Amino acid sequence: GSVLEIRNLHVSIEDKEILKGVDLTIKGGEFHAIMGPNGTGKSTLASAIMGHPKYEVTEGTITLDGEDVLEMEVDERARAGLFLAMQYPSEISGVTTSDFLRSAINARREEGNEVSLMKFIKELDKDLDYLEIDGSMATRYLNEGFSGGEKKRNEILQLMQLKPEIAILDEIDSGLDIDALKVVSKGINKMRGENFGCLIITHYQRLLNYITPDYVHVMMQGRVVKSGGPELAKRLEAEGYDWIKEELGIED
Ligand code: ADP
Ligand code: MG
Ligand code: MG
Repeated sequence: GSVLEIRNLHVSIEDKEILKGVDLTIKGGEFHAIMGPNGTGKSTLASAIMGHPKYEVTEGTITLDGEDVLEMEVDERARAGLFLAMQYPSEISGVTTSDFLRSAINARREEGNEVSLMKFIKELDKDLDYLEIDGSMATRYLNEGFSGGEKKRNEILQLMQLKPEIAILDEIDSGLDIDALKVVSKGINKMRGENFGCLIITHYQRLLNYITPDYVHVMMQGRVVKSGGPELAKRLEAEGYDWIKEELGIED
């Protein structure tokens, strides 16, 4: 499995410092969850890892198996095995879901070793079935006119198809009804294995009833302020974040 290592990461947006020294290591085989109040920098962390141009890294390092991720272009990060499911997936008009997936899969393969159309369709059908997605979605333009739930299922479809080394899933549970939540969780759980590490960003513990993380981290004011096991998420659900603020002497 791969190792994503984040050290003392500071990130600014338009000269405002949002992340103030984040340390986090995610290894293949591990599921990590990041929880935290709104506006504490969770999505900023995800965007910085994937190289969104608006997010400026002012200090610290991100490496994947020792390679400097911050030196990589966005597409290089994906080819290196990083994957981001965004909180708000964007629509891509003129590109069908199927075409998008096939070129993304092939972008991670050597030239001359592209996936055959037959094999691609077979694997795609299998995953569409597994995620209970209507087959017609594959021929629709990516995310265009998709409902919130369809977008999230589609992100998991991409995850299953692309088989990244390390995935960051930003609020993959937001806006899902219970059936969709179960399907999405089922897809993420199916990825479990030595060659897959995952960072699950969520505001609520609900998703973690279906996906048991190995580690839970709490982010506040741009830092990971507390880490623990699954029991930490349960306590947050029951008691909120105030006790952590008190424990650490954090002011609002
Ligand atoms: P979270 O995901 O934890 O809710 P975010 O990372 O989205 O938090 O936001 C952290 C802070 O950065 C917030 O104060 C937010 O307003 C600010 N922020 C995030 N994205 C942008 C942006 N594109 N432009 C300006 N400010 C932003
Ligand atoms: Mg620092
Ligand atoms: Mg967010």
